[in-house]
Amino acid sequence: MNEHECKCDKCVEMCTRFPCRPLPEEVVEMPAEVQARLSIQEEGDGLSSVPHLQPAVVGYEGQRAHDFDIGFTIGSPGRCTFLTEDGLCELHGKCKPFEGRTALHGQSGTAALDVLKEAWGSAKGREVLKTWREKHNEGL
Ligand code: SF4
Repeated sequence: MNEHECKCDKCVEMCTRFPCRPLPEEVVEMPAEVQARLSIQEEGDGLSSVPHLQPAVVGYEGQRAHDFDIGFTIGSPGRCTFLTEDGLCELHGKCKPFEGRTALHGQSGTAALDVLKEAWGSAKGREVLKTWREKHNEGL
């Protein structure tokens, strides 16, 4: 899949509404302080209930992601914890998640979703999720 680096208003706006998703192997490579700002998402966000990790919505770092159904009812789940006040991604050039690197305004995210579903549904995906839970929040 092609990667993009677009800072137009539409692309930045995506980060204010819906954090992008990493592949399991990308999570493993993230520094501990970045991993600590992810959250677990388990349902209703387009990955068809495949549990996965993703950058947290502000306020949900290290926790279960808030209810996405409620998020969509009020307009969107919320702002990504890695989006700076000046509209930049803190992870850019370091460990920006797969979905964020391949997203571009005006494009459908279907292909990326298929890749993410397969990756998080795999044994490796489940192992990464389990390890994160043990490290960051055993209660989840
Ligand atoms: S990690 Fe970066 S690209 Fe992805 S949603 Fe957050 S700010 Fe946007």
